[in-house]
Amino acid sequence: MTETRDADHRDADDLDVDYLVVGAGAMGMAFTDVLLTETDATVALVDRHPRPGGHWNVAYPFVRLHQPSSFYGVNSTPLGHDALDTAGGNRGLYELASGPEVVTYFEQVLQRRFLPSGRVRYFPMCEHLGERRWRSLVSGAGYQAAPHATVVDATYMRVTVPAMGPPAYDVASGVRCVPVNGLAGLDAPAERYVVVGAGKTGIDACLFLLANGVAPDAITWIMPRDAWLLDRATVQPGTAFFGATMGNVAGSFEAAAVAATVEDLFDELEARGVLLRFDPAVRPTMYRCGTVTRAELDELRRITDVVRLGRVRRIDPGHITLEHGDVPSTATTVHVDCSADGLAWRPPVPVFADDRITLQTVRSCQQVFSAAFIAHIEAAYDDDEAKNDLCRVVPHPSTPLDWLRSTLGNTANAGRWRRDAALRDWLVTSRLDGFSRTRAEVEDNPEHLGLLARIAAAAGPAMANLERLLADTDG
Ligand SMILES: Cc1cc2nc3c(=O)[nH]c(=O)nc-3n(C[C@H](O)[C@H](O)[C@H](O)COP(=O)(O)OP(=O)(O)OC[C@H]3O[C@@H](n4cnc5c(N)ncnc54)[C@H](O)[C@@H]3O)c2cc1C
Repeated sequence: MTETRDADHRDADDLDVDYLVVGAGAMGMAFTDVLLTETDATVALVDRHPRPGGHWNVAYPFVRLHQPSSFYGVNSTPLGHDALDTAGGNRGLYELASGPEVVTYFEQVLQRRFLPSGRVRYFPMCEHLGERRWRSLVSGAGYQAAPHATVVDATYMRVTVPAMGPPAYDVASGVRCVPVNGLAGLDAPAERYVVVGAGKTGIDACLFLLANGVAPDAITWIMPRDAWLLDRATVQPGTAFFGATMGNVAGSFEAAAVAATVEDLFDELEARGVLLRFDPAVRPTMYRCGTVTRAELDELRRITDVVRLGRVRRIDPGHITLEHGDVPSTATTVHVDCSADGLAWRPPVPVFADDRITLQTVRSCQQVFSAAFIAHIEAAYDDDEAKNDLCRVVPHPSTPLDWLRSTLGNTANAGRWRRDAALRDWLVTSRLDGFSRTRAEVEDNPEHLGLLARIAAAAGPAMANLERLLADTDG
């Protein structure tokens, strides 16, 4: 009651800010950063967590970025040192910040850039209640932004990680089942490990166990869906990787241009090294931009006890019940829950609508780039219709068909952006746009020019054929 009265009382003092950014995760931070650079606007930044960085605050201790640090974070401030890893599964490729590095980075962006600007008021440990109102989870104090404040919803993507909640299946008492975070807290070795989930978190859990010396035959991997995966060597920025990265785009378009069926398309994408899979004998039914190196994939393939019986329904001391059957387990087995749907598909909504901006991806699987891009569009353009035209949403993929939809969406957006000279310049100088930077680094090098020519030649036929393949499938 006291909390409610306090909140009601303080609601009278509207905070006079131009933007209310709800969510200080990577997207809210990337958006606010560009607003600070490109406008004089003031911002209230509200988040439940005690620190910025969103889900990275609760991620498992051994998590790393899946894509290079060099195009992650906020536009104004480099993350890491653009160094190449010299050891581990990512050796030879650009460094991947660890979870603690990401959280420290966002904290420093807040402390050294946002707060000293005098234009950002930060409200940690606060729950947004809707209607521009929020309340401290600690003191109960209530706040409200002035009615003219544009609300920026940086929570729409609903990222979840296993530490955020219990597993989505029943676990009987006596069963040892830990979220992936619990793996780093083990105080004694288990006889067996069962990893539940085959998304990126499941991959990380398996690699963690193997790296810590667990024998591959002591691991069972429950894989409800096999995934098409991206090869990290082909999504690297910079001139040194121009051939691999642009070769990947050329290969994607050329495969897309000639495929007679969706099945042919994926065969061709695999043959050209655009997509990888764990088991060449099993056709994946999932595509979520999971990214691995070939070295990591080789390591994962040492695990041979792979259970493909759908999702887990229940774990009892003697066995595991899945959608399509049972498998035995033991009382001394540690079950590792990696089943949270980190980034679920979300229905696209207009990014700009009245006095609200809903942050979503305008290039698939590039959340921070998308948030920075949307902030730039907000700063540089006036009309909502024109802004929405430049910010067509490319939703997070889930199924292999979403590879087709993402490729079409990304390519159509890129075409629209290229027609605007000022926007083209912005993209090339944007730290978070690893792709445009790389493309602009083309040298007077016949191999580079040849790749761009291949991309240009295949783009039109590829888009037409992808449209046809999708229409045939829908039909
Ligand atoms: C293991 C893992 C690795 C990843 N690696 C990469 C990578 O290498 N590169 C890449 O581009 N992406 C990567 N991603 C994707 C990643 O999710 C995004 O890059 C990004 O971190 C998402 O940020 P976000 O701001 O959308 O969401 P979140 O981090 O979830 O932030 C949303 C924030 O909103 C707050 N919030 C929600 N509701 C309320 C409310 N009512 N009141 C107050 N606060 C609220 C939450 O507390 C949270 O802090 C990875 C994801 C995972 C899970």
